Amino acid sequence: MTCSFQAEDVVVLHMLREIKPDIAVLFLDTVHHFSQTYAYRDELANLWKLNLINLRAAEPSPGLWQTSTDACCARHKVEPLFSALEAYDVWFTGLRRQQSPSRANLSEVEPFRLPSGKSITKVSALAAWTNRDVWMYAKAHDIPLLPLYELGYTSIGCEPCTSLPLDPSDPRSGRWQGQKLECGIHIQPVISRQSTVISRQSTVISRQSSVDSHQSTVDSHQSTVISRQSTVISRQSSVVGPSAVGTGSATGD
Ligand code: SF4
Repeated sequence: MTCSFQAEDVVVLHMLREIKPDIAVLFLDTVHHFSQTYAYRDELANLWKLNLINLRAAEPSPGLWQTSTDACCARHKVEPLFSALEAYDVWFTGLRRQQSPSRANLSEVEPFRLPSGKSITKVSALAAWTNRDVWMYAKAHDIPLLPLYELGYTSIGCEPCTSLPLDPSDPRSGRWQGQKLECGIHIQPVISRQSTVISRQSTVISRQSSVDSHQSTVDSHQSTVISRQSTVISRQSSVVGPSAVGTGSATGD
């Protein structure tokens, strides 16, 4: 699983440890985290005896965010994570739909294609959880949380790109000063869902075609045309589905 050591990730980690105590815990060490995050990571890793794997860019570039947050996220998050995920078939995250509009359609289980073409299964068990659910679970199980929450942060990533929420109703509004919502590692599912939608459209059109074929000769001709459209859309679906989009968060994040 990927773990940024925010509350959601720690809750998922708490659950998974019950089943697999040595589960690989991938932490994206962007070299830009808060000192409190590094300290908390080390405390929890020691307390829970985690199989912690720190992922770093092949060539870290401290301060790159000042010129391009996209390039910085790609180098320190997206590339190291996608490279590491090659060794796994299942990826657990702490993502929730309520975290951001960009996560509103998140599925609990969905396929994820890596840049190499390998497809893995992404599992976001807390997709339907509310913020309150997370905090209640943590409290009920005596899970210590990242102390930065006590300072008012509601979503915590790298220090230069994290501030107190700009909009109290949007937990991630303090990320990247509101300039973007995601670092890029969770972008692809949107493409996958597009593929699903197009696929469903194709099925609907196919059914229409079938009904039309029982009608008049004129309608039958229309049916053939619609059927051809269906085939074209099906092919579009095939093209959209497998494409890997990766350079474009939780957690990762
Ligand atoms: S969140 Fe900011 S500092 Fe962290 S990798 Fe992205 S741009 Fe760089």
